[in-house]
Amino acid sequence: MSDADIQPVVTRFAPSPSGALHVGGARTALFNWAFARKHRGRFILRIEDTDQARSSAQSTRGIIDDMIWLGIDWDEGPDPETDDPYPIESQLGDAGPYFQSQRLDIYRAHLQKLIDSGRAYECFKTKDELDADRAAAKAKKRDYRYDPTDMLNASDAQKQAWRDEGRPSVWRFRAPGKDITVHDEVLGEVTVTAAQLDDLIIFKADGFPTYHFAVVVDDALMGVTHVIRGQEHLNNAPKHVALMEALGFDRPKFAHLPLIFNPDGSKMSKRDKAKAARHLFDQIPQSERDAFIEDAIWFSTVGTPDDEKDARHVEITGRLEMFLDKRSDDLFIAILLAQRLKANLPEIDVMDFRENGYLPEVLVNYLALLGWNPGENHERFDQTFLAHEFSLERVGKSNAKFDRDKLRAFNADSIREQLSMDNFESKVRDLVKLKPQYQKYVDVLSDQFSNFTAQYQVRSVTVEDPYVQGAFFVADDDAIVFDDKAVKKVLHKNDGEGLTWLAKFHDELTKLEPWTGEAAHSLIKTFCETNEIGMGKVAQPLRVAISGGTVTPPIDATLEILGRNRTLQRIARCIKVCANP
Ligand code: GLU
Repeated sequence: MSDADIQPVVTRFAPSPSGALHVGGARTALFNWAFARKHRGRFILRIEDTDQARSSAQSTRGIIDDMIWLGIDWDEGPDPETDDPYPIESQLGDAGPYFQSQRLDIYRAHLQKLIDSGRAYECFKTKDELDADRAAAKAKKRDYRYDPTDMLNASDAQKQAWRDEGRPSVWRFRAPGKDITVHDEVLGEVTVTAAQLDDLIIFKADGFPTYHFAVVVDDALMGVTHVIRGQEHLNNAPKHVALMEALGFDRPKFAHLPLIFNPDGSKMSKRDKAKAARHLFDQIPQSERDAFIEDAIWFSTVGTPDDEKDARHVEITGRLEMFLDKRSDDLFIAILLAQRLKANLPEIDVMDFRENGYLPEVLVNYLALLGWNPGENHERFDQTFLAHEFSLERVGKSNAKFDRDKLRAFNADSIREQLSMDNFESKVRDLVKLKPQYQKYVDVLSDQFSNFTAQYQVRSVTVEDPYVQGAFFVADDDAIVFDDKAVKKVLHKNDGEGLTWLAKFHDELTKLEPWTGEAAHSLIKTFCETNEIGMGKVAQPLRVAISGGTVTPPIDATLEILGRNRTLQRIARCIKVCANP
């Protein structure tokens, strides 16, 4: 039987907008997209925003933008082209609205069906009562199970009394009292016994449905034929099937995707950033920690109005303490620590990869390999290949490993082999929109910017690399720090031979006309031939003078990009600063 013996195929990606789109979510979106495209079906983007406290419009926007950036398009859902994705009229598809917060009437109507058929009941148990039940089970060394007896037996008058008292209530689904087996397309049969199925809460006290209820209603009403999602939801599948049966819905097919792990064997998660930041902090010698913390707190209050500074100081101190004690994974604090330590946190969210200069087509290619086997000799491929070849049969059962080095190698290859020079340049330029600190390069390098990116294209692993490796181009001439080792080896060795050539060449260079890479090349060549020395004898001292170190693009191009005045000024300064000891 093929993956798609039900036609037409409808899949969905159903993120909760409570944070950024992370690697695992993007992989789920991609596999749903690929499966729908392969079977010429439809792919839905549904925003699961019933958790009002944790959902935000900003996260929704971020998820939509990240999916657009990745090139994962959807047939139904929020309109990707509009700034405001919420208005129902602008959403794509006939089964909307596609924001769960806009579907409350639909969920209420389905709750009513369950009430009418005796499968849902109102539960007034307070938190204290539930805690007491839990404690009692623990004392008897028994697994806790919710006991519905009191609520099922409560009279209407009693319920009214509770309501009058102002007790909040939730709605629960009466479990079916039988084992439920789900056939998973990847993992095979999964059974949950009757005893393991509790009476699920399906409507919360705030009047919103829970995830379990909304997902079941929506998948059915939107005609979803294949539910493809991460293995963390495997345990939910039997609960969902029980609900589907009670509501008279058809069962979709299920496919649960392998979890994604870090190379060290830990599960890849949003918490990795916090973990990495704490690890960085642990490297700081004990004696320097208090000062470091003071500095970090001070830094975080920069820009706060004077009359709010004290309060901010107290707030950040508290948050930092919680964070270092592992009582929170506060992302703000993690980033603050990393910034002060000039270190990078691991990339987890799609936005991290965007900001750090990965190409979307490379990330898509890499994500596709996380749990899917494209077959022999296929490692590098594009989205068209994926849309033709994707199948659930080739999704693995075991954990996938996120190998950042491999992703970096893919990215470097693509930058070198797939991008035209113009294309690379515009990607480097575009990064300024995400990292405004790089605007300086565009301003300072001005009409040499294309030359700059062209020189770095073959040397770059990411689109950000020209900025990182080429920082010396935009540094103040007086701020170049000469690397000790480089100075010794290139300038001071053999009685300061390097310095001597540098000074002689400097005089020639002042006469260079026009100031182009080509002219510089001939000048160096002639100079070296005349003096019977290798080109390196001039090129290396020049590199140290210009950049402080020994690594730059080809020296002729480097001179052209830097320009006459700055080059000559840097050489003169180097001769002075690095004069033989
Ligand atoms: N909103 C759920 C999540 O983000 C969707 C799970 C599902 O696909 O059923 O995890």
